[in-house]
Amino acid sequence: SLRADDRKRRVLKDVFGFDDFRPGQAAVIEALLAGRHVLAVMPTGAGKSLCYQVPALVKGGLTIVVSPLVALMQDQVAALRLAGVAADTINSSLEREANVAAWRRVASGQTRLLYLAPERLMTERMLDALSRLDVGLIAIDEAHCISQWGPAFRREYEDLSRLRGLFPDVPIIALTATADEATRADIEARLFAGRAETLVLGFDRPNIKLAIEPKQDSKRQLLRFIERHQGKSGIIYCLSRRKTEEMAAFLEKNGVRALAYHAGMSKETREANQNAFMSLSGVVMVATIAFGMGIDKPDVAYVFHTDLPGSLEAYYQEIGRAGRDGRSAEAHMLYGLGDIRTRRMFIDDEDTSTEHKRRAHRRLDTLIGYCETAQCRRQVLLGYFGEDAQACGNCDNCLDQAPRADGGTEARIILAA
Ligand code: ADP
Ligand code: MG
Ligand code: ZN
Repeated sequence: SLRADDRKRRVLKDVFGFDDFRPGQAAVIEALLAGRHVLAVMPTGAGKSLCYQVPALVKGGLTIVVSPLVALMQDQVAALRLAGVAADTINSSLEREANVAAWRRVASGQTRLLYLAPERLMTERMLDALSRLDVGLIAIDEAHCISQWGPAFRREYEDLSRLRGLFPDVPIIALTATADEATRADIEARLFAGRAETLVLGFDRPNIKLAIEPKQDSKRQLLRFIERHQGKSGIIYCLSRRKTEEMAAFLEKNGVRALAYHAGMSKETREANQNAFMSLSGVVMVATIAFGMGIDKPDVAYVFHTDLPGSLEAYYQEIGRAGRDGRSAEAHMLYGLGDIRTRRMFIDDEDTSTEHKRRAHRRLDTLIGYCETAQCRRQVLLGYFGEDAQACGNCDNCLDQAPRADGGTEARIILAA
């Protein structure tokens, strides 16, 4: 309604200081205010927190926020308090007195958002106490932790499936950046018995050109690619630690300012290399996947995979470090059959259940499908995240097809059939 729209915009502006909602936020907030359950799948940095913080303030009552890490909870509570919002957390890292004081504020109705770890929330005592209060909304952050198939399963999250029954009239929102179909279905089944509005949003990064090249001579291919991006910052991902160092040395020998980064290096070297990459422009970082978490450098011109990534999701996350400034950037991957064999071996050697292995192989198949498609790559990539897209005109397949009418497309379709 118009009035709800006014209210959520006013909260956005007055409390958080923003003029506009980011893609998806308004729709999620509307659904919650209308009393529906929501599963919101949005990439990291998309602004998931506001999706429950705004309705928490528009609605009356207490919003319970479940979050897996104490550090995350404390950051969020501190940020909300700075914005003048009565937020609290009760957790194991606080002194008993601090927790008691927080609970008093909650019980007296002052607190608007209460952040709890799942194991803290799901104690009988806490649930009993909360059931006497006016709970208006429950938010479950990092909701993929509930899925056994996800990369970050947490046993304490499983118990959250009881929330729906314990608070039958309270809308629940689950938030995650992990979007593969199996994990999503699992979250929906466990938290909502399949009855939630699912919103998958904003995964497109149209300024990143997507391309894949058959792997022949990685070093030469990499050098040729970098020559097209002289003086730009870039990230090169390699599968092994040894290879990052080899590649960095090779690039240095060829006049490229390159540094290596992997988990086997000393903390000092890693930090020094990361600082150089972050603060200088034109440095190429040759790294394993250990590099990247929390790296937010706007002017990374490309991400180059010398080896097959672990999954389509990992690929998406890794290439997402390019072009954050909105300028045209490139995601370039070398693709070789040997890499598929290596990845299959990794999966088979893992100490996990047969079912896990089966799913991991299937994820790998999806990635291979992306590598081998003759269709628009962005369509395939976004399709995997549940988004429909037009042919993008900014991937190798689109660009190959555009200017020519020599039957190349037809031949490929026939070969693919
Ligand atoms: P996520 O949890 O999806 O990774 P966050 O909720 O941490 O993302 O938000 C990422 C950043 O985006 C934060 O700095 C937040 O203040 C900012 N942000 C969120 N929504 C908006 C908006 N509508 N306008 C401007 N900035 C926003
Ligand atoms: Mg978040
Ligand atoms: Zn395309």
